[in-house]
Amino acid sequence: MRTHVLGEGRPELAVVVGQHGDEPCGERAMERLLADESLRLSGAVLFVVANERARDAGERFVDVDLNRAYPGDPDADAHEARLASRLLEVVDGLPVLDLHSTVSTAEPFALYQRLTPRTRRLLEWTGLDRAVDVRTEAGGLASHVDGVAVECGRKGSEAAVDTAERVLRNVLAAAGLTAVGDGELAGERAGTVDPTVFEVFDRVDGRGYEFLGENFHEVPAGTAFARRGDEELVADEPFYPVLMSTDGYEASVGFRARRLGPLSSLPDDDRLR
Ligand SMILES: [Zn+2]
Repeated sequence: MRTHVLGEGRPELAVVVGQHGDEPCGERAMERLLADESLRLSGAVLFVVANERARDAGERFVDVDLNRAYPGDPDADAHEARLASRLLEVVDGLPVLDLHSTVSTAEPFALYQRLTPRTRRLLEWTGLDRAVDVRTEAGGLASHVDGVAVECGRKGSEAAVDTAERVLRNVLAAAGLTAVGDGELAGERAGTVDPTVFEVFDRVDGRGYEFLGENFHEVPAGTAFARRGDEELVADEPFYPVLMSTDGYEASVGFRARRLGPLSSLPDDDRLR
């Protein structure tokens, strides 16, 4: 793990990149910002490059999935369990933007695990029009901090790096850390959006399935959405596929979600605060 501070003073935001070693978009976008001499910040942002060992190995993780390892343990045998514990210390108290990429869709979207006022603001600042509540998945960074993860696009694609950079610049501008109306944001208002929220309620487990649908497009009841040989998985009720793919996860097709509506229509989550 290594850290960089962009700007002067005490960081007001943490940006975590490379939790998964095979998702380079966040680190590359960070490098673009660090190299941009024209970028002037009125505050400071902390960047955390999370799992360099997994990145150097070209793998998602070394021992266990870092984004399922929180809160972690400084004395654990697993590299990522120790890393999770250190990372939580490093970002302590800061809102966190956590950048990822995926095999399931090129369209970027945001994810969160608890809806607090700071999480809501981060969701609005990403400039992305879709957000997913994934509180059903335990052990994620976003269940331990006021954080938003962003799936920036397809793993290894230049488009994912561009999207990661755009989201970063949008968040910095919307947070008031850079001037609004920066050239990089031409044609796009840096500031709040009101994303449509989807809530994951189920994970579809199983190996070797071919995903037949399209993420964020409703699967009607009675429709087959995955196939393995002659066997089909059929929707017993309508749902929206999220992070579903043929080979994204080893033992799961992805998630079933329902559409909740615009973020502005949802109350803050006070069950956890
Ligand atoms: Zn990831």
